Amino acid sequence: MVETKKKKDIPKIDIYKAWCKGCGICVAFCPTGVLATDEGGYPYVKDIEKCINCGWCEIRCPDFAITVGKKTKEKEKGEIKSEETESERSVAPRE
Ligand code: SF4
Ligand code: SF4
Repeated sequence: MVETKKKKDIPKIDIYKAWCKGCGICVAFCPTGVLATDEGGYPYVKDIEKCINCGWCEIRCPDFAITVGKKTKEKEKGEIKSEETESERSVAPRE
């Protein structure tokens, strides 16, 4: 019962293998052991339920190869921004 509630707060970890060089920094810095290294030396999400969304893996990755999904209102902000741009455009300079 409680698990269902917890799952809502679990962030999403994306690892872009094309950019990852397998340095292992993200695995080393993850404080809760979410990440592990596979046979090829690349990181993978071993236990996402342990993720506390601290963002260390993303901050420490030198190649921007890992991102942590955050629940922010960026989408809303983006909408407001586009509205502002439209209103700015409607103010056309006089000839
Ligand atoms: S956000 Fe923090 S807890 Fe989650 S995988 Fe990255 S380093 Fe680990
Ligand atoms: S820190 Fe970045 S480059 Fe290094 S193993 Fe992790 S995802 Fe790959």
